Amino acid sequence: MKVAILTIGDEVVIGKTMNTNASYVAKVLESNHFIVTNHLAVRDNVHEIMDALDFLYKDASVVITTGGLGPTVDDLTKEVCAKYFKEEMILASEELEKIKTYFHSVNMTDNNIKQAYFIKNALIIKNDNGTAPGMIFEKEQKIVINLPGPPKELEPMLNETVVPYLKDKEKVIILEKQFRLMNIGESHAETLIKSLYEKYPTIKVAPYASVGVIDYMVSTPHINDRANFEACCKGFEEILSDYIIGDWSRSIQEIIVDLMSEKNITLAIAESCTGGMVTSSIVDVSGSSKILLEGLITYSNEAKINRLGVNKDLLMQYGAVSKEVAEDMAKNVTVNSHADIGLAVTGIAGPTGGTIDKPVGLVYTAIYFQGRAKVYKHQYNGDRTKVRVRSMMGLMYELYKLIKTL
Ligand code: ATP
Ligand code: MG
Repeated sequence: MKVAILTIGDEVVIGKTMNTNASYVAKVLESNHFIVTNHLAVRDNVHEIMDALDFLYKDASVVITTGGLGPTVDDLTKEVCAKYFKEEMILASEELEKIKTYFHSVNMTDNNIKQAYFIKNALIIKNDNGTAPGMIFEKEQKIVINLPGPPKELEPMLNETVVPYLKDKEKVIILEKQFRLMNIGESHAETLIKSLYEKYPTIKVAPYASVGVIDYMVSTPHINDRANFEACCKGFEEILSDYIIGDWSRSIQEIIVDLMSEKNITLAIAESCTGGMVTSSIVDVSGSSKILLEGLITYSNEAKINRLGVNKDLLMQYGAVSKEVAEDMAKNVTVNSHADIGLAVTGIAGPTGGTIDKPVGLVYTAIYFQGRAKVYKHQYNGDRTKVRVRSMMGLMYELYKLIKTL
């Protein structure tokens, strides 16, 4: 099904409002396997909107408009659509009641009544976040869908009503499977699965990368392609099994908190360059109190010595960013707190402070468990924030790998 997007509003055309709606709608449509043919932005002008509809329907059978559903005179979208399809507008009394309730009958102007008019026989899309409902109207193989301008109103209407409506129209049954990967870069992952792209050309394997995590969606809109789809998913899982932590529904921290709670394992954390980020990311998960005993931010050498009890000689001999200090930090935080597992991270986040021996991005993470510390040396790239986030994610992945085996 081919869909075009028509953004309506002077403010968008003159560049005062960034057209995020077009990009959002396009992304949602694309991920639902619809073909997006065009984005067009026009001013609040009857003829220009009519011309745009003419143009867009040459290729697309569906046009989704955004904007111009408000109460003011420049809000013309529904009226112009009625004119385009040579239909009349009628008052939907139920919608009028809702608008009245919204305003408690105060401050409501006659203009607001306009928002309760729709093309006869159109489907009304409810708007839980504003006064302007949307509309879906279908005539002669053409579908027009009107959504409001404010993104907070448009987004739920698109996801909850429009997408299911269009899917139902096309009777699309999509086969899809999500994977979440960690501890691997996007280009490395792409190289590993190159053979799948060649072997299963009808199956879409799409990556969505962010710092420290790559989400993959394997999908096909062709229900009779199930055998290829399943073989492709199986191949994906086999090739990338070391890196897959689950689907998109849970963060690594949620998985960790669940696993550790189940197994009754407690955690303590000592952080330097991440400045509390690791602890905070665990605390973000509800239920973390079951596993987390403490998180210490020991940033200076003094804090590492005085608060954490890191051996001063080790610090002097090897420096704060070293295998030895990471190990001692993890050991001390575990022993002092009586936790089962202790984590530590120390590194050079940059952009200054790097040397030839210890460049920016050098990070040591350590995990102490049952009397032994395992230390990991990383060389991360990116700016200060990226190095810190990557350090946090790296450590979370290492902890996940350990507790999976317990
Ligand atoms: P309202 O009842 O708020 O007037 P409306 O449907 O008439 O709703 P518009 O008047 O076109 O919508 O736009 C309202 C606001 O929505 C704009 O001021 C702007 O902040 C936001 N908006 C409009 N169009 C877009 C767009 N294409 N992308 C992002 N935001 C937009
Ligand atoms: Mg408006």
